[in-house]
Amino acid sequence: MRKLNASTIARDYQFTLTSLREDILDIFLKGKKPLKAYEVISLIQEEKARANIKPISVYRVLDFFMKKKLVHKLQSNSSFFLCKRKSCLDHAHITTFLICKKCDQVEEIGDARLMSTFSSLLKNHNFKITTDHLELNGFCSQCQ
Ligand SMILES: [Zn+2]
Ligand SMILES: [Zn+2]
Repeated sequence: MRKLNASTIARDYQFTLTSLREDILDIFLKGKKPLKAYEVISLIQEEKARANIKPISVYRVLDFFMKKKLVHKLQSNSSFFLCKRKSCLDHAHITTFLICKKCDQVEEIGDARLMSTFSSLLKNHNFKITTDHLELNGFCSQCQ
């Protein structure tokens, strides 16, 4: 697997890499855990020496990344993390997050059979979901 960096991501997801987008991507690439918006903001201010950055600018970039399906937001704790699977670009795709309650790591899984079972289940109940993922909480293999 090739190493992910901000420029390869920008090319893959087809967007212009502004310096703020690059800095925010950098923070996500370095971090192992999902980050809350205020954590992203303070890391940008401290590590990237952007003391004057307005939170709204960071929110805008996060929003942009979410629309690009490059960053996901956990509903359970409103934190953000970088998507590791390009299949999330497919809008019909539902991804599943395994969230560890102890170390906060999130694993993203997409199982074709699970997804097709899930889609037909929703269809049978004529239920239209507005989320693009399922969240399962528990303990990862390291933390059990
Ligand atoms: Zn994803
Ligand atoms: Zn864990």
